[in-house]
Amino acid sequence: MKTILISLDTLRADHLGCYGWRFDTTPRIDAWAKQGVLFERCYATDVPTPPSYTAMLTGRYGMHNGVFGFQDPARFVPDPPMLQQQFAANGHETCAISNLFYPCPWLLPGWQTIMPPGLRFQGGRAPDVTDTAIDWLSRRKDRDFFLFVHYWEPHQPFTKAPPEHRELFPTEEYADVASDMKLLDANPIMKSFRRNYHRFGENEPNLSSAEVMARYDSQTHFVDAAVGRLFDWLEDAGLAEETVVVVTSDHGEAFGEYGSFDHYTCYENIAHVPLVIRAPGILPERTRIGGLVCGADLYATLLELAGIDVPDGLDSRSLFACARGDSDAPHESVVADGNSLCTQRMLVQGNWSLVHTINPGVFTHVEPWELFALDGDPEQDLSAQNPEVVADLKHKMECWVHTMTGGGIDPLVLASQKQMWAFGLRCFVEAVFEHLDVAKANPHVWEALRHKMGAGALDKLPWYEEWKQG
Ligand SMILES: [Zn+2]
Repeated sequence: MKTILISLDTLRADHLGCYGWRFDTTPRIDAWAKQGVLFERCYATDVPTPPSYTAMLTGRYGMHNGVFGFQDPARFVPDPPMLQQQFAANGHETCAISNLFYPCPWLLPGWQTIMPPGLRFQGGRAPDVTDTAIDWLSRRKDRDFFLFVHYWEPHQPFTKAPPEHRELFPTEEYADVASDMKLLDANPIMKSFRRNYHRFGENEPNLSSAEVMARYDSQTHFVDAAVGRLFDWLEDAGLAEETVVVVTSDHGEAFGEYGSFDHYTCYENIAHVPLVIRAPGILPERTRIGGLVCGADLYATLLELAGIDVPDGLDSRSLFACARGDSDAPHESVVADGNSLCTQRMLVQGNWSLVHTINPGVFTHVEPWELFALDGDPEQDLSAQNPEVVADLKHKMECWVHTMTGGGIDPLVLASQKQMWAFGLRCFVEAVFEHLDVAKANPHVWEALRHKMGAGALDKLPWYEEWKQG
């Protein structure tokens, strides 16, 4: 069996044409998705990048594999072995075209070949990734293989798409879909952080939300063309009908909604990702599945599609029977964990998402429990009007944690105590130091800063003693 796992990093589900986006961002993927099974409601189990890919490749939540946020796992022992190890052990040649391994060396075992585009984390552009994939595939036409193709578009910086893609998405057409930035602009540290971020990334500190979203869509169109070229090559090489191809993403993107940008939270806009599987002769065409599935499910699904035994002890449920219409989607509810600028856990069920903020970090406006109607205003917290729904979903979340931990300590709560990752980002540290008074008033930010900088360094600041006593 030939299997290709394609990930378009940072692609939120609702920005693809085949998921209902109003702009024509993904014509190639849309056409191709009609030949396979599209899962309308797939959620990353853990966000952002490192834990999301780790969950896909281990078939286990961060709760079980130990990887949260950008923290190095204290202990990482994949048991059972990772997806690529399973393929390799069953006679498939394995290859990753990805530079994910710079921050995630624990994902290295099992790949027989690794080609990091751009030779650095987040390096390389979409056409180069496709060229590398075609070059590798052209010498494996008669082999069984598992190929991971990891594109870094539409991830920031939003300057990678050439003008012919950029011109298709005029900023003025985004005026009514872009966030009003009210929540973000009310948070001095986040406002400065965003400005610094775009100053470093695009050399344009004052980008509007509409401008960023238009550029993001142009990058999606750019990577869609590159993925389309890979589809064309598979067709021309005669491999399209004997290859399982998956298109998905690790997490979405925020454009000011919920008071954030980039992908630092765990709301619908970040955890809801696309998932399409084309498996000619095995799975049907023109099929859309509306039930809940998750990123970790890829592990069991890809093994079953390749005819490899699925081991026990996973958080991954095969979507094989569901995709063929032989069963319902495997989850009544799905949980997503996030740990970067804040620590959150979201449970999605039916038309609701309940978001529990364990550590708000820099987000001072966030309540510990928020409830959103997925078909309503994504920013309107409906928890006060629906206490019975909150109680029901809260109970489900607590039961899930109990099942995952066996009644022990919640590892996400432990991880939430170590939110220091952002203090390695110059643009964030500069924002904090621009607003030290705000940071001082926020114990979550201040304790993290003290820990990162060393309490001694901050103690030397003239006002620290006064603050400590008062
Ligand atoms: Zn990512």
